[in-house]
Amino acid sequence: MIDPIRDLTDVLANDLCISCGACVHADGSLELQLDDASQMFVPNGPGNADAASICPAIQVDFPMLHDQLFPDQEPGPFGVVHSVMLAQSVDVERNRSASSGGIIKEVLTARLRDPEVDGAIVLAREEGIEYRPTLITSPDEVDDLPGSIYHNTPKDRVLELLRANEGRFVVVAIPCELEGLYQYVLRLQPELLGRIHSTIGLLCGWQNTRHALRAICDFKDVDFDRLESVSYRGGGPLGELRLGTDEGVTTVNRRRDLDHLVAFDRSFTMPRCHLCINHNNFLADIVVGDAWVDETSSTETGVSIVINRRESTDALMRQLADEGRVVVVDVDTDVVERSQKPRVAFGNFSYAYADFLRDRGVPAPLMDGPNRPVAELVDRDEVERFHTEFEAKRRLQRQRRYGWLRIRKVTKELRRFIGNSQELKRIRRRWARRLGLARDADPVIEERESTLPFR
Ligand SMILES: Cc1cc2nc3c(=O)[nH]c(=O)nc-3n(C[C@H](O)[C@H](O)[C@H](O)COP(=O)(O)OP(=O)(O)OC[C@H]3O[C@@H](n4cnc5c(N)ncnc54)[C@H](O)[C@@H]3O)c2cc1C
Ligand code: SF4
Ligand code: SF4
Repeated sequence: MIDPIRDLTDVLANDLCISCGACVHADGSLELQLDDASQMFVPNGPGNADAASICPAIQVDFPMLHDQLFPDQEPGPFGVVHSVMLAQSVDVERNRSASSGGIIKEVLTARLRDPEVDGAIVLAREEGIEYRPTLITSPDEVDDLPGSIYHNTPKDRVLELLRANEGRFVVVAIPCELEGLYQYVLRLQPELLGRIHSTIGLLCGWQNTRHALRAICDFKDVDFDRLESVSYRGGGPLGELRLGTDEGVTTVNRRRDLDHLVAFDRSFTMPRCHLCINHNNFLADIVVGDAWVDETSSTETGVSIVINRRESTDALMRQLADEGRVVVVDVDTDVVERSQKPRVAFGNFSYAYADFLRDRGVPAPLMDGPNRPVAELVDRDEVERFHTEFEAKRRLQRQRRYGWLRIRKVTKELRRFIGNSQELKRIRRRWARRLGLARDADPVIEERESTLPFR
């Protein structure tokens, strides 16, 4: 039994908020505001004990959530799994503008055609770089939705829309969003559960504070305050970052540009993400992620990994395949593990980092997910090195001294980067093969001709 926590003071003091917005509904005096120093949306005060009781930055009660959402099903290390697929939309335009295989939009379209569904609550663009949860009701609205948005956005409107509208709605959400949503609903307003028809979850490795966008704008001489659009993905498996202002669009290569490497370094990730053990979205009915595996590395457009946690979502995917809307290939959970790496899939780093912080008296969210028994915790030295570097870099970000981070990257980290660069590893491996010096165990994704039926 976890001791009741008074309020959100520790969450705010340690920048642990992930802007899920559940607290705003538990304590009506709160609202989410963009914090100037951290560049994240956080509640404007510590709130009350109800807010603390459902906050996923304080604790996530996975056993309770699993019992309620998936009764009688025992979750394994990947959560409850009915089936796993690789999948791609056959709609070339949809696929090209999507972040991976365009599967979320295919599933959403099908759901919105279902008479049992009254609408979907999805992240949509408001203006400029601002995105908010929005209620859509027609399949025609689906292709206006963005691909993955990696900068922090406030999510309090999901519950606002659910509370305000009677009916049954599909919710598209990242994992921690569902943690806050379900903890609020199940603990404080259970009658809302019936309004959630189903959920489509994104797999989620990290989310950036807005310092990342500010830094890249700084490096590329783009006026952050005049940003009219940002797009991170689309146009191929990895995609490009595009920053639009009234003066035009600046394109940044996400793999080879040093400025991108600095501005999207993991120190720009929200602190709670480094403690996240739920990247595989244990609470969603169907989960969609990028397929970063050898088999899909040479495709022209993205391919998705799909985890069906319900028989019904498996059936829906197969129906879409039968109708010729998507191509699916059945695979095993090992593909999820290879794509995400065990560190992400099993929380090898996050569980160790949470222990490290608690040992130092620093609050960390309490959560034991179904992956805890298989997590192989990384060494404490590695955690300590990360923590020291993370704190130093965050201090520079708070002072908006992004240029120092670039100097630091070039002088202190470039050698390490060169050693680790996927691109260089690929080249080295190619030459090693030609010279007959190749070793077997190299974890780099190998580009190879795919025998799978993807474009
Ligand atoms: C912050 C973030 C981090 C991610 N990290 C990983 C990762 O590490 N590994 C991995 O395999 N996949 C990750 N993904 C998922 C991946 O990028 C794709 O979103 C996913 O594969 C679905 O692609 P799609 O082509 O089917 O969807 P698309 O057709 O691109 O549709 C995207 C849908 O997601 C919604 N959406 C976009 N951004 C957000 C957001 N921030 N919050 C809630 N909804 C949103 C949009 O409204 C749209 O409905 C991440 C996504 C996000 C948003
Ligand atoms: S994580 Fe969610 S519930 Fe917790 S403080 Fe942030 S917005 Fe509120
Ligand atoms: S990594 Fe985890 S905590 Fe971070 S945004 Fe994704 S789901 Fe939320």
